[in-house]
Amino acid sequence: MHRRDFIRSSALLLGAGLLTRPRLAAAPAGGPDESGRFTPLRRGVGTYVARGGTIGWLASPDALLAVDSQFPDTARDFLQGLPGRDDRALDVLINTHHHPDHTAGNPVLAPAAARHVAHAYVPALQRARAERDLTLAKQVYATELFERTWRLDLGDETVEARHVGPAHTAGDATVHFQKANVVHLGDLVFNRVYPVIDHPGGADVQAWIRLLRELPSRYERDTIYIYGHGHAAHGVTGDRRDLLVFADFLERLRDLVQSEIVVRKPRVQILARTGLPGYADWELPNTARFRDALGAVYDELTGADIE
Ligand SMILES: [Zn+2]
Repeated sequence: MHRRDFIRSSALLLGAGLLTRPRLAAAPAGGPDESGRFTPLRRGVGTYVARGGTIGWLASPDALLAVDSQFPDTARDFLQGLPGRDDRALDVLINTHHHPDHTAGNPVLAPAAARHVAHAYVPALQRARAERDLTLAKQVYATELFERTWRLDLGDETVEARHVGPAHTAGDATVHFQKANVVHLGDLVFNRVYPVIDHPGGADVQAWIRLLRELPSRYERDTIYIYGHGHAAHGVTGDRRDLLVFADFLERLRDLVQSEIVVRKPRVQILARTGLPGYADWELPNTARFRDALGAVYDELTGADIE
């Protein structure tokens, strides 16, 4: 959808009273706990936010599960504060993808979990990234790998992980808490935040855009989505509209880079851009992130090889 059309349809929705703040609409279960880091969403499923990718959790008398692990210090804080844990071991740790801010806490959470699950591509991508970052000695890799889907009945919940990459990386998985009607999207959505696009990690922006437009049809209208990263004012959970807002961002980014490739603008000049027009209110953690995103899109559109 073009920006103009999006604004027009947003205005229509606003007029009809259908566009309220996503968090209010999607997460009526109340705000965060006293620590400010744990937020229950629905039916024993919630989020933990400190540093790095949002941890999703399921906690009930019969089930303890974590989605992603952040960093060692925050993983310890998560394990200590997880509501209703009472020193029990985790049943499962799932990694949505290999990035360090989602897996660096594995050395803390994996030994505390009976099973450690990820898509089949994740360990190799994690190892390759750790070689570049010189962090090989700190890696703990998932031991239970799946190709398409992984499913488990846990207490009174059914959890399904599904490979949806390549998008943000080649090994992206979503984690669906089916009865709670909550889906952890990993880093498929940066909620009003400039994204990381990991070309060496197998990102595919064109497929990512298609996936975001299709994903809402796989779930229900009132499904709550958990995002790896979110703008402070918008949060790390929301509804289907956030997916389309982010798809629009990626599409505009792709169209912009494509239009400059067509007029043979040099790569170095394309990467000199410091923001995307119309997105001044989005969080840009650092300028290198946008330069890398432009480079990733450029390399994808021009067919540059992945190392
Ligand atoms: Zn990521």
